[in-house]
Amino acid sequence: MLLTITTTHRPATELGYLLHKHPGRCQSFEMGFGQAHVFYPEANEDRCTAALLMDIDPVGLVRRERRADFALYDYVNDRPYVASSFLSTTIAQVYGSALNGHCKTHPQLAEAPIALEARLAAVPSPNGEETLRRLFEPLGYAVEMEGCLLDEQFPEWGQSRFYRLGLSGTVRLADLLTHLYVLIPVLDAGKHYFIGRDEVDKLLERGEGWLADHPEREWITRRYLMRRQVLVREALGRLSESAPDEDERAERQDREEEEMVEQPLSLQEQRLAAVVEALKVGGAARVLDLGCGEGQLIGQLLADQQFAEVVGVDVSHVQLQKAARRLKLERMPPMKRQRVRLMQGALTYRDDRLSGYDAAALVEVIEHLDAPRLAALERAVFEFARPGCVVITTPNAEYNVRFETLPAGKLRHRDHRFEWTRAEFRAWGERVGEKYGYQTAFATIGPDDPEVGSPTQMGIFSHAGE
Ligand code: SAH
Repeated sequence: MLLTITTTHRPATELGYLLHKHPGRCQSFEMGFGQAHVFYPEANEDRCTAALLMDIDPVGLVRRERRADFALYDYVNDRPYVASSFLSTTIAQVYGSALNGHCKTHPQLAEAPIALEARLAAVPSPNGEETLRRLFEPLGYAVEMEGCLLDEQFPEWGQSRFYRLGLSGTVRLADLLTHLYVLIPVLDAGKHYFIGRDEVDKLLERGEGWLADHPEREWITRRYLMRRQVLVREALGRLSESAPDEDERAERQDREEEEMVEQPLSLQEQRLAAVVEALKVGGAARVLDLGCGEGQLIGQLLADQQFAEVVGVDVSHVQLQKAARRLKLERMPPMKRQRVRLMQGALTYRDDRLSGYDAAALVEVIEHLDAPRLAALERAVFEFARPGCVVITTPNAEYNVRFETLPAGKLRHRDHRFEWTRAEFRAWGERVGEKYGYQTAFATIGPDDPEVGSPTQMGIFSHAGE
């Protein structure tokens, strides 16, 4: 992954001050996912180019992520080559001061629009050249692109979705870096970390002064927030409000530090984090974990004081025992212990113990029920228990072609009765929502593949009366 930034502003070597990187040296930085190197292929009075080369460690990614059900992707993927959220995180870390417009030695230069040119070696673009123009031209850049064939031996396969991209204009360096920081993950749409509410703040902060007026602001916002509808709505709402106050700027520093510790997560971790976040955003305090299994979600919910009461329900006694052991219920401090309960129960029967809760989660549960039982679960959950909010995750069957070890047409787990496509899940969710008076929203969990979507899909049902 290569980003070069060139200036012809004289004396051009002052770029070194702005980037806080000496033109005479090559420097390397350890990132969680590989190494970043900064060096200057040219540095003279008339022209100076700083290169940021990101050397992603694909094997390290695999080891750290422990994505057991993700075999092919682990070894054959585009992450080392393509400009992605890894590059944004690197920009924030390696060019952090420049990104924020700070330069102690040359403060005026940092504030001044100067002649700059950025070049990126491989940028994915979902709709070809058109998208790149629509994103960057309104920001005042001259856009140069060079596409390539997927395979020169087979021209009939058509164009690759990757482009060599050049942007040039007279801009502040901080603005150029900010535009790249936000728009690269928008083009790639596969963030390496979990998208939570703080991403809304980050987007609005980084988008200050340009995003609200950008003709593609909605598309940018949707993609930046990985189509998480609750967050997208919040961001678009706040974008149309007035300018943020000064306090928000002061918090910027803190958030940057947070950004640096964002680590890649396994799919199960991403799933749990996404569910916790959805429950949090919904404001739930008393929560049911239906089909709790070994209690992984319960553990995460208990770690957050917002969740005053957490009830795990499972049909399997063995699973409940495992959950009790895993959560160390017996040794739990009393204040925490009184917030949690485990109950044996079948989700296919009306159960009055389950009514009156703020929210319920069903994480990877519905696909374990066959059709008549699923219909019974719908009634038990949405008609009788009737929590304010229901969060459901289930595999996206379309994604299965991306799993190397999964023969075509097979389900991911022996006990799965079905695995739905995105359209099937959406159709089911919308029907259930309509029937029982819940509003529905859908989100992706895990990397969002342009063709087949994400490995896990999530539906969020909110009680229309809430
Ligand atoms: N939510 C957990 C476990 C998912 S596995 C996790 O994400 O880790 C599915 C769980 O649903 C199993 O523990 C299984 O025992 C439970 N389950 C399946 N059918 C059920 C039913 N009809 N009623 C209650 N629990 C059920």
